[in-house]
Amino acid sequence: METSWMAEGKCRDLPPETFFPSDGVGVEIARRICAECPVKGPCLEYALYNRIEHGVWGGASERERRRIARQRRGAQRTAGERSTEHAAVD
Ligand code: SF4
Repeated sequence: METSWMAEGKCRDLPPETFFPSDGVGVEIARRICAECPVKGPCLEYALYNRIEHGVWGGASERERRRIARQRRGAQRTAGERSTEHAAVD
């Protein structure tokens, strides 16, 4: 997976622990930094694709990424069911 976007991240000059917070306040601080990051999108996709469990990536906490992944799996299932139904009708 493409990783050149990492060089553009706002976090590149910040301590890594900023993005691996231990409480909700820390998560919020990291999310605010990510909110202004020009590579927020690729960062989030990277974390989702690689199933990174820890830290804030692309402005999303661990819990938020789990929710996004669940929603995408649900959407894929629904699309798959639709295509199966479609094939059955055709
Ligand atoms: S979105 Fe956040 S974690 Fe990702 S590169 Fe930007 S600042 Fe770093």
